[in-house]
Amino acid sequence: MPAHISIDRLTKHYVVGHDRVVALDNVSLSIEPGSMVAVMGPSGSGKSTLMNLLGLLDTPTSGSYRIGDAEVAGLSDAARSRERRERIGFIFQSFNLLPRKSALENVAIPLMYAGVGRTERLERSATLLRQVGLGDRMRHRPTELSGGQQQRVAIARALVNEPALILADEPTGNLDSQTGREVLAMLRQMHAAGRTIVVVTHDRAVAEVAQRIVTLVDGRIVSDELVDNTAGGPAAGHGQDALAAWGSASDERSNVPATGSGQAGDGGPAPDAGSAADASPALDASPALDA
Ligand code: ADP
Ligand code: MG
Repeated sequence: MPAHISIDRLTKHYVVGHDRVVALDNVSLSIEPGSMVAVMGPSGSGKSTLMNLLGLLDTPTSGSYRIGDAEVAGLSDAARSRERRERIGFIFQSFNLLPRKSALENVAIPLMYAGVGRTERLERSATLLRQVGLGDRMRHRPTELSGGQQQRVAIARALVNEPALILADEPTGNLDSQTGREVLAMLRQMHAAGRTIVVVTHDRAVAEVAQRIVTLVDGRIVSDELVDNTAGGPAAGHGQDALAAWGSASDERSNVPATGSGQAGDGGPAPDAGSAADASPALDASPALDA
């Protein structure tokens, strides 16, 4: 089950030469289980820093971070790796798939680190790949897949450990508008299935799927607004069975619609082209690799 997430006066300083950059300045945020929060703000405002901290890829200079009842801000590297593996799924702008591995193997990586046996690993990964509409691409390597397909592999990988929290940093930033809408539809489905999602985006269409938009400027929260998206909300157009399948990677039903259905009604502007250079080094590191 997703846990309540809360950060309290979280601060992150970076020291570069003689300068100190305050990337995050006393940020407090409480995130309800099963909610979806969009984080917006100009480049350099601290969005990726916040995601790095929420994702336990980095440690704060000060402040508290709790997942459920557990204080995780001060954990050792090893303990952070374990928490990350068990509780957090990542989706990056640049997909971060291992180039020499098949789609199936990429999805299975978090399960390998979690000590799940090979047969179960591959079965669960195959189920998820079918759920994201890639049942016929399991043996393909990333270079043999389109950008949208690669991001769907990454989404399957993010879900395979049944994480309490999904973190997505500009997930549509490298995609054209059509595939961006497909990925957006998947975020909607994950949300409708009860996942807790934090998504960084420049794209208003992505942000409007969330219930809440938090805006950062200069490392501080300058607004925190609730979005009324109940009309035609996240689950619009999807059957309950399909949604339920998203709630469990071990669920054998594979009748979730492939998300290439166009999602008419998403409307919205084309996803922002984003900027690859904007992605922080820490977030670009594949979290599965340093376990
Ligand atoms: P955003 O994702 O909103 O564009 P970031 O969180 O990447 O912003 O960066 C916030 C601030 O922290 C920026 O001023 C950036 O230059 C600085 N920063 C980010 N990562 C590092 C780092 N590893 N070392 C030094 N400064 C950094
Ligand atoms: Mg960023």
